[in-house]
Amino acid sequence: MAYAATHEIGHLLLGPRHSALGIMQAVWKEADYRNMAQHWLGFNAAELAAMRQAAATGDRLASLR
Ligand SMILES: [Zn+2]
Repeated sequence: MAYAATHEIGHLLLGPRHSALGIMQAVWKEADYRNMAQHWLGFNAAELAAMRQAAATGDRLASLR
């Protein structure tokens, strides 16, 4: 549940796009659920940078355009 909420908050900051890997994938696979149990599933470097910029400037989608 926490990962789903985090994914949706990611959409608020990053927009509607999904990534090929990590928490912003459109559909999580079995390995992703194992990674969630190990606390290994997260945002990729570009997503983290975009969220930092969005938080600092208030400009959503700032660096993923
Ligand atoms: Zn999504």
